[in-house]
Amino acid sequence: MTNLSLFRESTRSWLADNCPKSMREPMLEKDICRGGRNHIFQSNDQKIWLDRMASKGWTAPTWPIEFGGAGLCKEQAKVLREELIAIEARPPVSGMGISMIGPAILEFGSETLKKQHLPAMARGEIRWCQGYSEPNSGSDLAGLQTKAENFGDHLIVNGQKVWTSYGDDADWMFCLVRTNTDVGKHSGISLVLFDMETKGVTTRPIQLISGTSQFCETYLDDVRVEIDQIVGEIDAGWTVAKYLLTHEREALGKMGSSPVERSIKEQAITCLDLTNGRLNDEVIRKELIDWEIDYFCHQLTSERVNAEIASSGVGNTSAMLKYYGTELNKRKYELLISIHGSESMHWEDNPVSRQWLRSKGNSIEGGTSEIQLNIIAKRILGLG
Ligand SMILES: Cc1cc2nc3c(=O)[nH]c(=O)nc-3n(C[C@H](O)[C@H](O)[C@H](O)COP(=O)(O)OP(=O)(O)OC[C@H]3O[C@@H](n4cnc5c(N)ncnc54)[C@H](O)[C@@H]3O)c2cc1C
Repeated sequence: MTNLSLFRESTRSWLADNCPKSMREPMLEKDICRGGRNHIFQSNDQKIWLDRMASKGWTAPTWPIEFGGAGLCKEQAKVLREELIAIEARPPVSGMGISMIGPAILEFGSETLKKQHLPAMARGEIRWCQGYSEPNSGSDLAGLQTKAENFGDHLIVNGQKVWTSYGDDADWMFCLVRTNTDVGKHSGISLVLFDMETKGVTTRPIQLISGTSQFCETYLDDVRVEIDQIVGEIDAGWTVAKYLLTHEREALGKMGSSPVERSIKEQAITCLDLTNGRLNDEVIRKELIDWEIDYFCHQLTSERVNAEIASSGVGNTSAMLKYYGTELNKRKYELLISIHGSESMHWEDNPVSRQWLRSKGNSIEGGTSEIQLNIIAKRILGLG
């Protein structure tokens, strides 16, 4: 038996013994565990599951053990992912820590930053938010105006961020600021970290079409940030910001393929009329089959791209996966609205209409579809 097969066997057995039954049930947005200082666990099982996975280092499996991970290689991490999917396990913790700022700190951060932030992130103790967009800088992110003055041992930050997802629930922010105005647009930017409880940080929730308030405007007035909370070199934050965005886009590209939701097919079978096990509605049947084929192609493409990155160490494909994955997720909710019909209008009892409205933002967040197409044209296809 190969080492990888042995690893699979022991992983399967550990998961069978340690993943609580309720953590293998389909979940909704409200069931997501995002961790953080103020997180209220929905159940004892949710806490047990997070604690057990964190103690194995499996919330951030490829991170070094000393920083809260398990030091797994990519192949082992893939096995773990497959075994989690096989038992339909819920993610023990989700959010912008492990998937976005964590990898950036690992790649560019000082030892101090790694020790301070990564283990707490892996244990789900600190919840993070992203301070990138500003009222006049979204797609044109490098045009950001939030200013940080350098006082030697600290910076003083002034400006406004917008669309800060979960800004009012987060404990810490990773934030792009302008530390130098005398150089070109892409230079003179730094990526800094600060506690949302720091004096001068104010958040104001923005009401959304889905009826919930997911994001905020964030005002920064004379916010003090210690100099050692810069990720990478001062003025060189654009490189860190782009690296982080590839992780955000890869995560967004996995949309439409959540293993823990009831599948579209199952929902169609429950909601619609069947004859001999076939859906009577030919239009929905065709759309469902088209979606499933595209979904499997997307899955296979993701696998291929990940294998290429694992072997060559390079990849410029997060824009491609982000574009297609999020468009696929939007199509999925269009289809679910057709399947649930007038039932989907039951705002309080049926989550589909809220999820459908939320999915509209998928092709905007993390960089719009148009921007991803520009990146694909220039960097992947080499056009212009
Ligand atoms: C659900 C959601 C969550 C978000 N969470 C966060 C967050 O946590 N933190 C954060 O910092 N930001 C967040 N954002 C903001 C997001 O990153 C920006 O909305 C996005 O980058 C687009 O910027 P903008 O809204 O300023 O639109 P603009 O940049 O003004 O774009 C407007 C339109 O013009 C098009 N356009 C612009 N430039 C070009 C071009 N060069 N070529 C072709 N078309 C172009 C765009 O595609 C878009 O259709 C979130 C957004 C959403 C929807």
